[in-house]
Amino acid sequence: MPKWPGNEAPNAVTSETPSKLSGILPSLAALATDSSIGTPTYVYDLDAIAAEARELLRAMSVPAGPRGLVAYAVKANAAGPIVRTLAREGCGADVVSGAELLLALACGISPLHVVYSGVAKTDDELDLAIARGIGAIQAESLEELDRVDARARVAGKTARVSIRVNPQVDASDIGTHAHITTGHDEAKFGVPLGDVEPALTRVTSLSSTSLVGVACHVGSQLTRVEPYVQSARVLFGVAARARAAGAPLEFVDTGGGFGIDYGAGCPVRPADFVGATREAMREAGLGGLALHVEPGRALVAAHGVLLARVIQVKETRVGAERRWLMIDAGMNDLLRPALYQARHRIVAISGGEGEAVPWRVVGPVCESSCDFGEHALPVRPPALVAILDSGAYGFTMASQYNGRALPVEVFLRGGRVVAKTQRAPRDAWAEERASIREA
Ligand SMILES: *Cc1c(COP(=O)(O)O)cnc(C)c1O
Repeated sequence: MPKWPGNEAPNAVTSETPSKLSGILPSLAALATDSSIGTPTYVYDLDAIAAEARELLRAMSVPAGPRGLVAYAVKANAAGPIVRTLAREGCGADVVSGAELLLALACGISPLHVVYSGVAKTDDELDLAIARGIGAIQAESLEELDRVDARARVAGKTARVSIRVNPQVDASDIGTHAHITTGHDEAKFGVPLGDVEPALTRVTSLSSTSLVGVACHVGSQLTRVEPYVQSARVLFGVAARARAAGAPLEFVDTGGGFGIDYGAGCPVRPADFVGATREAMREAGLGGLALHVEPGRALVAAHGVLLARVIQVKETRVGAERRWLMIDAGMNDLLRPALYQARHRIVAISGGEGEAVPWRVVGPVCESSCDFGEHALPVRPPALVAILDSGAYGFTMASQYNGRALPVEVFLRGGRVVAKTQRAPRDAWAEERASIREA
């Protein structure tokens, strides 16, 4: 099992175009040549995102029993059309900042369907969450429980809280990248198991908080169900203890992290995680509680691409012969390859002729890590390429490093553009930076 499931993916060839992208690919060449759009540009399929949510929501619904919650992790992709699409399908939101909380509400998600995670929420952010009466502030430490209680008391309210438990299951053993695992022993996230008992004693003695849930989130891009269910079982033990301590528990939240197929395969669907977790819940005698899950990537990643233009090629003839394909998308647009050694498939969109040969695809940013890896593309290279599976942790991590404009975003429904953003003009960044004047 490779450390990062996308790393050792076979090179994509232009002929194998994932059917998931059928709604996007036909439009790409036209979008790139549209003078109001151009490249680099993220293109998303809102229909496919809605269908993805429906499939998971079907798996979440139980004939009798409390309504579960699919709390979409907004940090994966915070664009209005995407959050609104998911809200309309019935998703809630998992947010990690006051700004994300306001965004979720502005996109039509009911406050009670919002959960708020994060290790260092400011007083200002806690006050906002308390004032809006969200579903749960997920406390990640004993210290935070005390702070929430104090802020709620000042506001004259009772805050709905859950305790995020660190189940101490190390997801890096099971094929996900160390930077995106959060459940292992030394992670900064969550209340470690040993501190759970004191946290329960504490929270049940506080007068302005109500412990309505327990939560965990062990990491991202999980391609097997077992470690997820293993941590869920640990969480269910905590839920039973919380109930015994008299907490008015309503839900267990087993987190997100459902993996997708970046090219190396992912045998499980989000619904499989939910099915296995529900089964374990029943076994633990917790069938009467609501199940919350917090998927980000799994709802959006496969339904977005990053469209880029080939600027030029460079062939090195001395020493190791290599063909470099320089494109106009860089690590500032899509950080995952540089940050996590993630591999995204790249396909030709227009132009390109001849046999497929290995091209090392790199961006313009002045960092060696601005590198999308080696890909099989035609020997006479295409004018346009699409970097696949870029719908999650793409634009949300984009920056203006090297004075580059943020990429444009285009949203498709029924194969038509229903929303798009504007690219900042080339001199906007220079003017803005230069306008910081010393007194
Ligand atoms: C990032 C995050 C998620 C979503 O993770 P995905 O891998 O995108 O599903 C869920 N819950 C919390 C607390 C997170 O920080």
